[in-house]
Amino acid sequence: MSEGFFKEGNGLVQLSQTMIEERIAELGAQITTDYQGKNLHLVSVLNGAFMFTADLVRQINLPLTIDFIGISSYGSRTESSGEVRLTKDLASSVKKKDVLIIEDIVDTGLTMQYLLNYFKMREPSSLKVATLLSKPSRRQVDVPIDYSGFDIDDAFVYGYGLDVDHVYRNLPFITSKGS
Ligand code: IMP
Repeated sequence: MSEGFFKEGNGLVQLSQTMIEERIAELGAQITTDYQGKNLHLVSVLNGAFMFTADLVRQINLPLTIDFIGISSYGSRTESSGEVRLTKDLASSVKKKDVLIIEDIVDTGLTMQYLLNYFKMREPSSLKVATLLSKPSRRQVDVPIDYSGFDIDDAFVYGYGLDVDHVYRNLPFITSKGS
């Protein structure tokens, strides 16, 4: 492994480990307040949201259940095709649950639009969206986001669960391809 792989500074760092940690604590506190007395059921969108999910759940001070859904939208490319493929289905029903979708990034919005339709058909009590990152300038369809970590510019970012051709998901910070 090359020396300094985990050090911020190999590209244009957008979000440091500390910034991510602090923002997730805020999101977790907000979710804890909003879901008092509810039947909170998180659905984490694999693969990208695995790290965000692991950190976020530890900041939510409520009993909750969690499931995972696998979605593939990019393949090895970096441009959204709008084509969404289900790679792993839910393990449990979402009917009558207060579902909170946990996503890594909302870019064009096409994946989230697909997910929202997918869940609405399965009759949850309520349906909300939490995303760590959002690129508002890239949106092709309007999707509601209830909890957003950071709005970022139109750059391809990676690290902290997000990949470039399946690599770099393990970086503890978020960086972008330097110009
Ligand atoms: P959308 O359908 O265009 O909103 O794209 C959503 C999905 O594309 C995300 O769940 C990511 O997997 C991927 N994606 C979008 N932008 C980026 C990026 O900047 N870096 C890595 N993956 C991205």
